[in-house]
Amino acid sequence: MHGEPFGYEKPASLREFESLFAERGEDAKILAGGTDLFVLIKERLLAPRLLIDISDLPELRGISYDPGEGLTIMAGTKVAEIERSALVREHAPALAFAAANLGSNQVRWMATMAGNVCHASPAAETPPVLLAHGCELVIGTPGGERTLPISEFFLAYRKTALQAGEYLKAFRLPPLPARSAVAYQLRGLRRAMEIDMLNMGIYLELAADGVTVSDIRLAMGSVGPVTYRARGTEQRLKGMRLGEEFMAAAGAGVAEEATPIDDMRASAAYRNRVIGVLARRGLEQCLEQIGKGRGEA
Ligand SMILES: Cc1cc2nc3c(=O)[nH]c(=O)nc-3n(C[C@H](O)[C@H](O)[C@H](O)COP(=O)(O)OP(=O)(O)OC[C@H]3O[C@@H](n4cnc5c(N)ncnc54)[C@H](O)[C@@H]3O)c2cc1C
Repeated sequence: MHGEPFGYEKPASLREFESLFAERGEDAKILAGGTDLFVLIKERLLAPRLLIDISDLPELRGISYDPGEGLTIMAGTKVAEIERSALVREHAPALAFAAANLGSNQVRWMATMAGNVCHASPAAETPPVLLAHGCELVIGTPGGERTLPISEFFLAYRKTALQAGEYLKAFRLPPLPARSAVAYQLRGLRRAMEIDMLNMGIYLELAADGVTVSDIRLAMGSVGPVTYRARGTEQRLKGMRLGEEFMAAAGAGVAEEATPIDDMRASAAYRNRVIGVLARRGLEQCLEQIGKGRGEA
């Protein structure tokens, strides 16, 4: 037998889920797609008493766009729905690309982005691009809800800022300002069905002159215990003019801020070398998109 026996509940509404979770939260784990959770249970790394299945709650599904608020993706939305969504492809194409790179088609029809984020693996596919977008998380709390920038969500390896009785309700990606774009870069051993050895989300925004960097976010995965932004480098790059000096400073800066380890997917030395290449490629991709007018408000 794999792991300890556990109970299973499938609430029919969000209200029912919230009262059950408030009552049993200590013993319970939320079950979304189960593609991470069942692996942990099978490997006896987790032994919840109760699984609360939120996979069919209509209130937690859907993707919408509002010109003022941006893109809202409800937590129960499947990764395959994000990959295929016309709204995501239009307003956050790098996220659609990241979603398309997560596991296999079968996995993507089971898995949710909330599960990907709440599992808090440093190698996960979607956190770098969400960090690059400056995503806000809507968190359901016992008394209501609160919002938190995703940059404050990952506290340590597989540890998040969710408190007892809290769950992830939705993702909000603010509208992209004029002359800005987001790119996603990944490096893996093969093209499908594998966890990335490195990944990166890149946000670039240019000033009205079209050559000065007014804002930049560089979010790195698989180079530390959590996905995180190279904040020192971002600060140094702000105000620089585009060109070789800027690109070289970006590449060198992320390599300096990366703290990778050797593991079964890659060596620390390899990761340190390649993260700078990903930064440069991502910035070039952003420039190409800005040049095409993508991301124009
Ligand atoms: C064959 C295979 C290939 C894979 N390939 C990749 C890959 O290429 N890239 C990648 O990043 N991942 C990959 N994964 C991992 C996994 O599919 C993803 O992390 C997935 O997005 C997890 O989502 P889920 O809905 O299945 O989460 P679950 O397994 O249901 O849950 C994961 C964790 O999140 C918690 N949780 C879920 N929803 C919420 C919520 N709304 N609020 C609070 N907590 C919540 C659960 O309690 C649990 O702790 C792969 C997995 C498999 C089995």
